[in-house]
Formats: sequence, C-alpha cells, structure tokens
Amino acid sequence: MTTFKALIASKGETGTSLAFGDFAEADLMEGDVTVRVTHSTVNYKDGLALTGKAPVVRRWPMIPGIDFAGRVEASDNPAFRPGDLVILNGWGTGETHLGAYAQKSRVKGDWLVPLPAGMNPAEAMAIGTAGYTAMLCVLALERHGLKPADGPVVVTGAAGGVGSVAIALLAKAGWHVIASTGRAEEADYLKDLGAAEIIDRNELSAPGRPLGKERWAAGVDAVGSHTLANVLSMTKYGGAVAACGLAQGMDLPASVAPFILRGVALLGVDSVMCPKPRRLEAWARLASDLDRDKLAVMTTTIPLDDVVETGRAIVDGKVRGRVVVEVG
Ligand code: NDP
Repeated sequence: MTTFKALIASKGETGTSLAFGDFAEADLMEGDVTVRVTHSTVNYKDGLALTGKAPVVRRWPMIPGIDFAGRVEASDNPAFRPGDLVILNGWGTGETHLGAYAQKSRVKGDWLVPLPAGMNPAEAMAIGTAGYTAMLCVLALERHGLKPADGPVVVTGAAGGVGSVAIALLAKAGWHVIASTGRAEEADYLKDLGAAEIIDRNELSAPGRPLGKERWAAGVDAVGSHTLANVLSMTKYGGAVAACGLAQGMDLPASVAPFILRGVALLGVDSVMCPKPRRLEAWARLASDLDRDKLAVMTTTIPLDDVVETGRAIVDGKVRGRVVVEVG
C-alpha cells in the first residue's frame, strides 16, 4: 500500500484532533489529477481551520490546507501531463475535499492553474491564496475603472498576507497607498513594500459616522466589520472598495449613505469558487506585476511540521506578510 505523510484532522466523541500520520493513497478523494505537493502556505482561513475557530472543515477525517503548488504525478485530464507544475487555490480543498498539508493530493484537473512561466512553486505559495485574492481585489478596482490619478487607495490589514501583496501591487501600478495597520512597528516594512502613508487601524475599527471626510478613491479591505463600514464612509465620490476579508468580523455595521449619496461601490471578492478565466488572469498578472524582491521581503518559510503553531499565530494577528510551507 502506498502511503504519504499528511496532517490529519479527525473528529471523535471527545472532539477534534490534529496529528501527522501516514495516509493511504487509495483513500484520496475523487479527481483526475494526482499531484506531488511540494509547497503550501498558511492563510488566515488555514488558521481558522487548524484552530477550529470557525467551521472551515466540513468533512472528517480531513487533510487541512486550502492551497498548494506541486508537480503532476498522474493525470487522466487531457490538459495536464506528469511533470507539469501546477497551482491550486480553494474549490473546497481543506474544507470538503482532502487538502494541501500532505505530500500528495488528488483533485479535479479543472481546479488547477498551470504555474506561470518564470515563477517557481515556492514563489507561487509565497503568493498563495492571500496574494491571489489581493490580485483579484486589484482587478476588481480596475474593472470599476479606477486609476491612480483618481486619488489614494487604502489597504486594511496591511501587514497581513492580503494586505502586503495588495500594497506591493498597487504601489507598483502607481497608486498612493495608505496602509492601515495595528502594528506601528511594521511601518518600515510597509514603506518598503510601497506604502506612502501609514495609519493606525484604530482610526477605522470603532463605530463611525454614515459619511466621513473623503479620504481615498479606492480600498482593499481584508478586515470587514466597522473597518469596512468606515472605509466606505470615507471613500470619495464614485470610488469603490474591494472587500475580501473578515479579520475584525463578519458583520457590516454600515449605512447606505456612501452608496446613495456618493455613488460608492462595494465590490465583493471571492477566491474559492472564482471562475477559471479570472484565476488565469490573476496569476498572469501576479507573474508580470508582483516585484519578486518585495515578495521575498514579505515571506517566511517553515517546514510542514510547523503549520499548526503558525495557524495559531495567524489568527492571533502575529504573522507578518506571507508564510511558505515546505512540504518536503
Ligand atoms: P492575515 O492574518 O495575514 O492578515 C489579516 C490582517 O488583518 C492582520 O495581519 C492584521 O493586520 C489585521 N487584523 C487582524 N485582526 C484584526 C482585528 N481584530 N481588527 C482589525 N484588523 C485586524 O490574513 P490573510 O491576509 O491571509 O487574510 C486576510 C483576510 O482575508 C481574512 O479574513 C481571510 O479570511 C480573508 N480572505 C478571503 C479570501 C476570499 O476568497 N474572499 C481569500 C483569502 C483571504 P495589521 O496587523 O496590519 O493590523
């Protein structure tokens, strides 16, 4: 019987547990492509799954991990051949389908994106789902017609994964980036990524007014709750905010004032079920637009054995930038 190393989440009568073990290849779920996973990452959602803070895992036993990069080992899908380098983000991986914290994964080929030319698997996971989502946010703002000349852009959760990649992408595109963070000590890091101004996230995290002073033309929000409400209330006439996250909360205690008095748009961004053409567009733009030196600055690398501990740290807001997991 062929087995491989995996982190296995189990549910028993006394609750849930996590342990590394040998997983039988025969027990992998349905799919037409088997991938030798070489790299994964720890996103906020992985932290929620690993700590059990939110019901991310919906099938037991589960191998957690929502994204990976690796090499195709076997394929019945005409689009992929053994040896091809691929990326997977979402589609329920690590939630309802056995996930990434393992040396092998079997998935639908339709879920896979070819690794862009010139990018290696470690870089792809340095970007990970957080970085790909940051790119989806930038694409959403662009589709709305917004340009750097329209005014500044605010990025919330700035020192986190989505925030760090969003800052690097927006600064490179010429935007005046205002980074909102709770970590004043990361000001130099955020400026290195391209932030022009740093604001304290406390300015945005408390209940605010329906309309505030117009401070920015656009926003990328990874935080939700009062922060998103305040970002909307301070968005300039005709501006837009791409909302992708809930680090402060899932609620949105806002009024319609920014929408009906300033024509502000709230653009929802989902990475999990995002259609393939948009994924391909996002990964192509990441390959061409994201400065690899900046990506290196925001990246820490850990072995697979450290994912549980890192999952705890990310939900506690203690991870800076992005984390690559070497699956080995
Ligand atoms: P990170 O933990 O890396 O970043 C989140 C950041 O939010 C933190 O670094 C911190 O930034 C800030 N933050 C944390 N807690 C609070 C709080 N209580 N109040 C205000 N700010 C807070 O996570 P990711 O970048 O991986 O993900 C960010 C968010 O985006 C998550 O909610 C995640 O679930 C969501 N997401 C959604 C996706 C989608 O498909 N829609 C895909 C990927 C991510 P700082 O220290 O700078 O203040």
